[in-house]
Amino acid sequence: GDDAGGRTTSRRRRRILVFPLPFQGHINPMRQLADALHARGLAVTVLHTRFNAPDPGRRPEFRFVPVPDGVPAGVAASGDVIGLLDAMNAAMEAEESAALRGVLESVLADEEQPPAACIVFDANLLAVPRAAAAVGLKTLVLRTASAACLGCFMAYPMLHQKGYLPPQESKMYMPVEELPPLRVRDLFYSSRSDQEKLRNLLARAMEAVNSSSGLVINTFDALEPAELERIRSELRIPTVLAPGPLHKLSSKNTASSLLDEDHGCIKWLDKQPPRSVLYVSFGSLASMDPDEFLEVAWGLAASGHPFLWVVRPGSVRGSEDIQGFPEGFEAAVEGTGKVIRWAPQQEVLAHPVVGGFWMHSGWNSTMESISEGVPMICRPQFADQMMNTRYVEKMWSVGFELEGELERGRIEEAIRKLMEEREGAEMRERAMELKKKVAHCLKSGGSSQIAMDKLVKYILSL
Ligand code: UDP
Repeated sequence: GDDAGGRTTSRRRRRILVFPLPFQGHINPMRQLADALHARGLAVTVLHTRFNAPDPGRRPEFRFVPVPDGVPAGVAASGDVIGLLDAMNAAMEAEESAALRGVLESVLADEEQPPAACIVFDANLLAVPRAAAAVGLKTLVLRTASAACLGCFMAYPMLHQKGYLPPQESKMYMPVEELPPLRVRDLFYSSRSDQEKLRNLLARAMEAVNSSSGLVINTFDALEPAELERIRSELRIPTVLAPGPLHKLSSKNTASSLLDEDHGCIKWLDKQPPRSVLYVSFGSLASMDPDEFLEVAWGLAASGHPFLWVVRPGSVRGSEDIQGFPEGFEAAVEGTGKVIRWAPQQEVLAHPVVGGFWMHSGWNSTMESISEGVPMICRPQFADQMMNTRYVEKMWSVGFELEGELERGRIEEAIRKLMEEREGAEMRERAMELKKKVAHCLKSGGSSQIAMDKLVKYILSL
């Protein structure tokens, strides 16, 4: 390449800065977008916090610049996402240190690099718009969740005004007529005590979106046509593009995992019968209680289906690492089940032996599953996971929610429904239809390729 080591970038005319929110589900799509833009001739500088910092060695063609994040170790370890965001935003905005602005100034002053066209940032990083404006840098927002999720944020004032939010126990199943097919329980909300904080955060994130020169959403036109239409007509932003699923636009997909991927599981998958395996993973943040963990373990064992189960360090509350498998469990699943700490997920989902995905409905996982035609059992916990589940079940009919208490008998039943019964087979057929739509939008002349071309043109015009 022309820019090994990120130094000899003379042939690249312009540069973009990218600044992802430092969580796995936000880092991945930003890196995929950066890869796609780099492949189209732009130089890339990655801004990152110390918390969940990337390994620069994995992307020698990018520049990496740390931003002081002021995240106290205690907050980082607590898993309190809203608290972490507050601490990060406060540190970057601190007037006296002008921390982020200082970083931007020095990045822009680097004359070895082509001139910066703009910064692509995660709208949760509230300090970016002001710091960028202060140094005369244009901003583009990347939304790593669905278009429907942004639609929910846009509707937030209305949702409070009409009394849908904060949610009331007795109204959880009430339809939100303004946002079909969502019900109150599917909305993006926080615990009662944090809802006001979340409301403020989202109001400011929407301001950040509205003050930007453009918006990129990790979705594609055929998946959320009505939702995108609403965003395009209601937001006052010059450009709204949907070039997703971004993981399919990037050729190097295993380079931003914060945990080491267990590639040994692919050999294990190779030995299983076609479409027989249930892949089980709840993403990078969701967690369960030890007693739920036991129910999952026995439910998987009872289903009789081979399974590949990701048990991430910290995913069982109160334990640091995989431990405490119930007595007899390992013997019971010997040969049929495999437990790993972190999977090369896209490779797993693309493997022909994988017949279903029991997941938490994180948006990236949902898009990755759809892209491979894999139907889903959804077990959402928070944030946009409930609304993604609703779309999987009601809008696209490619999966269903496992609701209520986690209990081994009900888990076994859900797995059989997905893997053996007619309903599951129909969901698989529809998932295969969506997979075709994904392939279509990625073809030359497809909506996502067109959106990427437009994006590059737009960036070069800034
Ligand atoms: N992921 C992975 N290996 C795993 C589990 C997850 O590589 O064992 C990746 C997954 O492919 C996705 C991301 O981590 O890109 C998780 O993002 P998502 O939006 O699904 O959920 P979150 O972690 O944000 O809740």
